[in-house]
Amino acid sequence: MPFGTIRVQSLLRAVIPEAHSGPFEMIIVMQRGASEPQIEHLTKYLASRGILAERMDGHEQTVIGIVGSNGGYDIASLSAMSGVQEVVRVSTPYRLSARTSHVEDTVIKMPDGTCIGGNAPSIVIAGPCSVESEDQLRRTAECIRKAGVRFIRGGAFKPRTSPYSFQGLGFDGLELLKKVSEEFGLFIVSEVMEPAHVPAIAEFTDIVQIGSRNMQNYPLLRQIGNIRKPAMLKRGAGATIEEWLMAAEYILAGGNDKVVLCERGIRSFETSLRFTPDLGAVPVVKKLSHLPVIVDPSHGTGRREFVSSIARAAIAVGADGVMVEVHPDPDRALSDGAQSLTFELFEEMMGELVRVADAVNRPLLVEQFHAAAQHSVPVR
Ligand code: PEP
Ligand code: MN
Repeated sequence: MPFGTIRVQSLLRAVIPEAHSGPFEMIIVMQRGASEPQIEHLTKYLASRGILAERMDGHEQTVIGIVGSNGGYDIASLSAMSGVQEVVRVSTPYRLSARTSHVEDTVIKMPDGTCIGGNAPSIVIAGPCSVESEDQLRRTAECIRKAGVRFIRGGAFKPRTSPYSFQGLGFDGLELLKKVSEEFGLFIVSEVMEPAHVPAIAEFTDIVQIGSRNMQNYPLLRQIGNIRKPAMLKRGAGATIEEWLMAAEYILAGGNDKVVLCERGIRSFETSLRFTPDLGAVPVVKKLSHLPVIVDPSHGTGRREFVSSIARAAIAVGADGVMVEVHPDPDRALSDGAQSLTFELFEEMMGELVRVADAVNRPLLVEQFHAAAQHSVPVR
């Protein structure tokens, strides 16, 4: 049943006893005593915009149901038109990312069959905030691979608050990621910031990351829509879930249906953590959308001492995975050292995640890599 249908049905019944409620996108309730010229002005306005509307006259009130449009209307403008009492949205403004348009969970299949989403085991993506050197990356890759992780993260193009901070190694960093990931059988997750870089970065990566600062960079989202590599869309720190799903819509509308959402904490009045991890977003997104959703407790908390507890909670609440920052020497990291786990803390967290995942009956993807055999085998 589309979102909000119950409310609309009862509203329609209250206004027009025998009204049928069709597959409306939204309904416009006219004021009692709205004049015929006001109603006509509105219906002509809708028609002039190519919006299909159905007029229903009750004994005392008229309701106009919008049955078809390309979404090109503005609710605030409609609400402000003379004679309009209320505009009620019936269906969600996002379509392709909505659960109603795609009942089954989207499952993203990596080239070797590893899956993200649906009933697939929850994944762990781990690695440094920034790629800094071959040695840093190789040591991190070895640590996470030993713990059974299949996805390495590492920023080569970094969105830094200050233009004077380390900006990343750029394509040299991506070359390092490629080299090390091939050695250890890891999938690469790395961020793209510029629309022009999308095709090239997609060549280097297995999952292209769109950072929270770029969640509403529409030219970038459109470019991501043009590629066929999976894309991980981080939630903007100030974005509502609806805005986040609308951003995903840009990618899906371009024809790229492999979108993974990543909750990474939102800005709130609370200042004790870097951001406020919004774990409630996981079940909400699962209800509203078919897209996989993972949680990033590193950026969400900003402090390594809290990363593991939020990661455990994320798995328990039904996330399709977690993404954490790990560094061989966090105190010397060129970015986000305070939230980066040491190897020791990372191994400890993995053990805890496996237990939580077992407790909620959704295993964690933990695979050992046999370099000689060049393939992965499940540990458990
Ligand atoms: C990151 O993943 O390194 C990053 C910059 O994250 P966010 O976009 O969530 O701040
Ligand atoms: Mn970071």
